[in-house]
Amino acid sequence: MTIDQISITTTMKKKEKPSQDQVPFGTIFTDHMFMMDYNSEEGWYDPRIVPYAPISLDPAAMIFHYGQTVFEGLKAYRAEDGRILLFRPEKNFERLNLSSDRLSIPPVDEEQMLEYLMKLLDIEKDWVPSTEGTSLYIRPFIISTEPNLAVGPSRTYTFMIILSPVGSYFPGGIRPVTIHVEEQFTRAAKGGTGMAKTAGNYSSGYQAQANAKKEGNADVLWLDGAEKKYIEEVGSMNIFFKINGEIVTPALTGSILKGITRMSIIEMLKSWDMPVVERRISIEEVYKAFLDGAIEEVFGTGTAAIISPVGELNWQGRKMVINNSEIGEVSQKLYDTITGIQRGKLEDPFGWMVVLK
Ligand SMILES: *Cc1c(COP(=O)(O)O)cnc(C)c1O
Repeated sequence: MTIDQISITTTMKKKEKPSQDQVPFGTIFTDHMFMMDYNSEEGWYDPRIVPYAPISLDPAAMIFHYGQTVFEGLKAYRAEDGRILLFRPEKNFERLNLSSDRLSIPPVDEEQMLEYLMKLLDIEKDWVPSTEGTSLYIRPFIISTEPNLAVGPSRTYTFMIILSPVGSYFPGGIRPVTIHVEEQFTRAAKGGTGMAKTAGNYSSGYQAQANAKKEGNADVLWLDGAEKKYIEEVGSMNIFFKINGEIVTPALTGSILKGITRMSIIEMLKSWDMPVVERRISIEEVYKAFLDGAIEEVFGTGTAAIISPVGELNWQGRKMVINNSEIGEVSQKLYDTITGIQRGKLEDPFGWMVVLK
């Protein structure tokens, strides 16, 4: 199948674009969206770009009952010269297929999905904001659509891509956040779905997040499900610790999301000849290092904030103030470099950026 077979229906009524300095996260959507369907006879079929609108589903559609669904999240950035740049988008479609495999959803053609996304972005390019820190958030996702209450994989699916202009995650520059180390609830267990970007992983964390927020924390740091001993990740970010000059991040043991920002940060640190290791790291080790004064920096990584410095970790009623609650040197350098590359201000020695033609 070639890109030409995509059908395009444009809207007659274009929406007004939001003011660039007041874009809320994830509530404004562009004029068009991409859709395609799957059935076992035809595979994925009928790729189309249509006006953004609600979709209609049978109340028995399996997505509503058994949560068979996966999603992705990436951003398109506007460079100063007007070009539109995407950060490693092929990695998102690769991960979408990994998530789909875990959820028994049929795979998509990764290269073709990227072409469809580019076509959609070409139609919506005026929606990519240009102010510092803003971007067009891209949300590809797949839902199971077969009307059937029998537990088991759906025989029909819909794949969609929707686009949402987003403002700066940290208006006025990056600032450190306070994180609660979660002792009661579990995000993911070994053998579960922690490595997949799938709906249930998130809603099952809301109670813990609500409790943490009541005590002034921005989010929770999850520990491993079996022993509540080893550090996993934050709500939608991977986590890094700088201890005695060495940067440590939890190894991908199957219950942690394989972040593309995480992967890129590791590659970047290695290119700077900074010591970086992926291994299991316990919360006790972190606490001991804190008492020894050896914790220099803590930061989260993810598409939303890119780098989010952690100023305070709360664990069992003990408060660990990191780097005087200030942004660390490495965190700042990583943030400046990666966002510089993403916005086309800095050279891209890794060949990460994909330009919309
Ligand atoms: C998406 C996500 C991340 C970050 O992944 P990126 O590819 O860097 O955006 C980390 N943890 C969880 C649970 C996530 O859903």
